[in-house]
Amino acid sequence: NKRIKIKELLQQEPQEQEVTVMGWVRTFRNNQFIALNDGSTNTNLQIVAELGQFEESLLKRITTSASLKVTGTLVPSLGKGQKVELKARVIEILGDSDPEKYPLQPKKHSLEFLREIAHLRFRTNTFASVFRVRHALAFAIHKFFNEKGFVYIHTPIITASDAEGAGEMFRVTTLPFDNTPRNEDGSVDFKEDFFGKSTNLTVSGQLEGELAATALGEIYTFGPTFRAENSNTTRHLAEFWMIEPEMAFYDLEDNANLAEAFIKYIIKYVMDHNAEDLDFLAKRLADEEKQLPQDKRSEMGLIEKLEFVLNNQFERLTYTEAIDILANSNYNKKKKFQYPITGWGMDLQSEHERYLVEKHFKKPVILMNYPAQIKAFYMRMNDDGKTVAAMDILAPGIGEIVGGSQREERLDVLLKKMKDMNVPDEELWWYLDTRRFGTVPHAGFGLGFERMIQFVTGMNNIRDVIPFPRTPKNAEF
Ligand code: ATP
Ligand code: MG
Ligand code: MG
Ligand code: MG
Repeated sequence: NKRIKIKELLQQEPQEQEVTVMGWVRTFRNNQFIALNDGSTNTNLQIVAELGQFEESLLKRITTSASLKVTGTLVPSLGKGQKVELKARVIEILGDSDPEKYPLQPKKHSLEFLREIAHLRFRTNTFASVFRVRHALAFAIHKFFNEKGFVYIHTPIITASDAEGAGEMFRVTTLPFDNTPRNEDGSVDFKEDFFGKSTNLTVSGQLEGELAATALGEIYTFGPTFRAENSNTTRHLAEFWMIEPEMAFYDLEDNANLAEAFIKYIIKYVMDHNAEDLDFLAKRLADEEKQLPQDKRSEMGLIEKLEFVLNNQFERLTYTEAIDILANSNYNKKKKFQYPITGWGMDLQSEHERYLVEKHFKKPVILMNYPAQIKAFYMRMNDDGKTVAAMDILAPGIGEIVGGSQREERLDVLLKKMKDMNVPDEELWWYLDTRRFGTVPHAGFGLGFERMIQFVTGMNNIRDVIPFPRTPKNAEF
């Protein structure tokens, strides 16, 4: 008998023909009713093991988390919610599970506790839903760009460049092998090391992406990204995934239009294809928020929020306008910001970003034209000589989810900027060649995949939307 997934089975009509399911026991009641889950849906299949039909020695082994193979017939269900249940003829134990030792009891566990047993949290409804949504978003991302004719480019994971210039890199060496070449003072001699130079794990595929875009037109990357973030926040991981489209012949406005359409498309896809998971997560979030004081709760439920985002234009404004709003806000006047607004030129902290989206505009915001000195060297200088054609997209509950810009395509302006910002131009000769040979206006952005998943699932901590979070002191499995 071929295995049928529970999600599929629950759609079927009662029938004579026998079916087989396999999965893990969630609960076993009255020595008769098994709730079985196989990961295809959060709805458990009710299996009836009629009294007197099965050996006591077998029934004793049906414990929470034991794995079973069950063959039987689909019959109408008397219970609420489900059309059908499975009347078991044969029950086979695939794997026993000692209920005394199994860390996950059939009750609600805190997310903190589940983080400590991240190897088992896949077996909870919350994480099953989160990871099915994560999958659907990844699929929708490829679908969106494929429909638009973008080419998916794999940029290197080991690189010699620091695209962001932020210095938050993981070094790659052949250490700790005894033959690692050393200088006289004991430090690693990178010239003699594996790559003949110092290398690191990529912090962004953008520079390499620009090379591809200035030939193929429109490309995107979607890969792992590494930053040795020293901050312990609910928004930063040491290893995360980033989607980075890069487009020739786009200016900042084209870039913003694409980013907005992209975000709406992938949200819509998940709403159309993962309604059950989103409903589950929405209810989870609503329950969680009931514990909070009234003024800390969200004004909208998760589904309502996503629908609102789909149906409304993102607010667009300049950095300069944002600083004005923030400086004149009650929050600033009443000193509610940890970092007070000191004036034009300061970098925005996540509390400021969240004030703009959550308190002021109450919708996603695209902030453009930041001061040149707080942004990376490759962003295009505006005519005012002070700001660059940067854009950040800020989302309620998260803050920054996208960072992007129109790139500086003028060689002379770029070289001067690199000099001013101490970016070594000899090392980036290959990057500068795009400006030497047929330069074109181009733009792109990076969307943090996990932050997008946080937004769609309503999960507050970024550690809860990636299967194996990498954070300081955390790389066990
Ligand atoms: P932040 O200000 O939040 O530190 P950033 O400005 O350093 O982000 P960018 O270099 O603009 O980040 O990267 C593009 C996107 O990648 C960000 O908008 C964010 O969504 C995501 N991102 C950046 N750093 C991390 C991280 N450590 N963990 C998860 N996602 C990240
Ligand atoms: Mg950062
Ligand atoms: Mg930022
Ligand atoms: Mg950024």
